[in-house]
Amino acid sequence: MLSEKIINGKSLSQLEAEYPIIAVLRTLKETTWINPGKRPFQEAAETCPLTMTDIMDASDRLDRFADYFRAVFPETAATDGIIESPLVPIPAMQKNLEEEYACKIGGELWLKQDSHLPISGSIKARGGIYEVLHTAEKIALEHGLLTLDTPYRIFASDEFRRLFSQYSIAVGSTGNLGLSIGIMSAKLGFNVTVHMSADARQWKKDMLRSKGVTVVEYESDYSIAVANGRKQAEGDPYCHFIDDENSKTLFLGYSVAALRLKKQLETAHITVDAQHPLFVYLPCGVGGGPGGVAFGLKMVFGDAVHCFFAEPTQSCCMMLGMATGLNSGISVQDLGLTNLTCADGLAVGRASGFVGALMTPFISGCYSLSDERMYYMLAQLADSEGIYLEPSALAGMYGPILTERDPLFSQYIKQLSSSAFCVTHLVWATGGSMVPKEDMDHYYQTGKNICLPL
Ligand SMILES: *Cc1c(COP(=O)(O)O)cnc(C)c1O
Repeated sequence: MLSEKIINGKSLSQLEAEYPIIAVLRTLKETTWINPGKRPFQEAAETCPLTMTDIMDASDRLDRFADYFRAVFPETAATDGIIESPLVPIPAMQKNLEEEYACKIGGELWLKQDSHLPISGSIKARGGIYEVLHTAEKIALEHGLLTLDTPYRIFASDEFRRLFSQYSIAVGSTGNLGLSIGIMSAKLGFNVTVHMSADARQWKKDMLRSKGVTVVEYESDYSIAVANGRKQAEGDPYCHFIDDENSKTLFLGYSVAALRLKKQLETAHITVDAQHPLFVYLPCGVGGGPGGVAFGLKMVFGDAVHCFFAEPTQSCCMMLGMATGLNSGISVQDLGLTNLTCADGLAVGRASGFVGALMTPFISGCYSLSDERMYYMLAQLADSEGIYLEPSALAGMYGPILTERDPLFSQYIKQLSSSAFCVTHLVWATGGSMVPKEDMDHYYQTGKNICLPL
């Protein structure tokens, strides 16, 4: 029986008594949570094992590889070999949302289009690609084939490809991480195996196979796919496992986004300070992507930035882990949820323990939303702005509405200041530009057919 299951030494009913939010999450109601563990930035940073120096190190590494990207991925030429996405205002969507929800969003609404990142079309083109490059660089340095001053287009040489062909890379994924790591690893010449959970879309598996990537399919969810990837690499010194649940390298790859965003905000003449806070809404799966980006943003903007994680009601593992303090010690399945969602990028039942613990002093809050709402907003964004995203990427879009309509979120924003105050709302659009037209038409039609109870 579910209620007698022991989770971290306690029964579900004991946990429910201790943490009332559990009972709410079990009903699949859309939920908000403000983090009581958040600390003033200076205090939080002092106890954090990662620092700005780590982010700079990752950023420098990506800069070294720009030379290689210019040579082998012509789509990065426009950004001079740097994999980066546009930051755009979405005034028509803002107006649309305000009418729909009968409220006025205080401040401007912007979209960070990681959906349109080159090479793999999702936020995973940050962390996933970064960890593959990190691995390749390390191997090349160990073999004495490289100094940090060598022009990195040498990574495209036959000699380097032959070297990497002796190594393999393994990863478990719901789709997008596999896509990033598969494409990048294959390009460098690694043998790469992607362990795909049942959520993974067919087109992603087809695309990877066409590039020579080995795809192993599972009927089960993300945790099992990851466990099998880990098992494959165990005891094989020539196999590097990219551990989406625990990797600091992935995390730091994502964090570099903050340095880039700072420049983009400056170019757009958007001030970020105490009187002009930046509210950022990040779709969250296992936590590495949104956690890494949020970590970088906190390091860059300190107390002036407020980061929220957004999850499907069926897969609200980060909110569950953070609100109970159990982090990866509890899963949505422990609550009787299925972890089945249209937001395949977010279909994770157990959060990264590393990210939950590390981010607790930094994160403002979490919320969950229904699949219907993601689909609905997908069609709304397509109609109002002509921007097409995958369902996961819409999870952040509900955040700005919640700051107006939800009691907890609106109280949070009111407490920040009483005087002249101007918020910028930034929705992190995490994927979608590579979705085949047929699949996108289907998403769009599903959104158009939904009557959303507001
Ligand atoms: C992976 C993914 C996320 C979340 O990243 P995590 O590191 O799993 O938290 C969000 N959106 C999309 C489209 C993704 O593929």
